[in-house]
Amino acid sequence: MSDPALAAAELTDERGRLEPTPIGPILGRRDLGGYRGMHELLGALAEPVARGARVRLVGRSARGLRLFGFEVGPPEATDVTVVVAGLHPIEWIGVETAMTLLEALAERPPPDRRVFVVPIANPDGFAEVEANLRAGRRRFVRHNARGVDLNRNFPSFWGWPSLARLLLGPVFARGKAAASEPEVRALVDTLVALPIDRALSLHSFGGAVLHPYGARLARPGRLAELEEHAGEIARASDPRRPYRVAQSSRWVPGFTATGMEIDWFYDHHGALALLVECSRGGLAGRPWGDLARAASEPFAWFNPREPAPVATAIAAACLPFVRGVGGPE
Ligand SMILES: [Zn+2]
Repeated sequence: MSDPALAAAELTDERGRLEPTPIGPILGRRDLGGYRGMHELLGALAEPVARGARVRLVGRSARGLRLFGFEVGPPEATDVTVVVAGLHPIEWIGVETAMTLLEALAERPPPDRRVFVVPIANPDGFAEVEANLRAGRRRFVRHNARGVDLNRNFPSFWGWPSLARLLLGPVFARGKAAASEPEVRALVDTLVALPIDRALSLHSFGGAVLHPYGARLARPGRLAELEEHAGEIARASDPRRPYRVAQSSRWVPGFTATGMEIDWFYDHHGALALLVECSRGGLAGRPWGDLARAASEPFAWFNPREPAPVATAIAAACLPFVRGVGGPE
């Protein structure tokens, strides 16, 4: 694992290469919400680092961007939670939620557990979405720079048959081999030997908490525990209208997903692994007259117009699980 002081210097260096103009005003003019670009996010990460979060260099993306992780809690702790966000690059509300979670964890680290947060797991994709937004291009981006869906590239059930891939192959491109993509390879190499017993991956949208398996319809052995934790997060994320809880493979009937991160965390580590589809997207609640315009912006499908309250609510809902508490009494 990389040295935190060196990695912190690399974080500053990486930030220095990025476009510094805040993207918020650009998004504001198109009513897409107050989100932050990569320069601002890397700048904001200085705060948890100042509070003691240890920066780790996980690896590099296909285009050579650095992939950072942030670790809180006692280094000698033997239980580890992993939080990953941004595998799908247009799902910025997941990244904002991971940032909020990391800030809360750095402020009050768990006494007996390490938490490893990777807030931008697909930096090339994130940068592409950001460049599109700055240039006014309305594009849907799901892949890394090599055209692969990183959440179909993990080394669990990779290559199993899937109707989704048969029908929509390029959308769910799985890559040439399990963990063939530099981002997934870096994550797997960094995480494979850690004693991970809880994992959380943040996506959007759809207002759901999903659990393994993604690749198979069979029920996981720890179903009761998974449902208990998922239910707590689902209720707390939106008390007025709780999120749905589902086994990932049964969420959209007929559409199993192979090579998913939650299947890898569950199968390889035996970890309780959950995937939160943060928010109900950015079209819900818009006035009729505005819907057609907003619907032409793929960014708006995935990201609510007001990220802060959503990220705050979901982070608070996930915090007990991440800290190693909650679930069956
Ligand atoms: Zn996603």
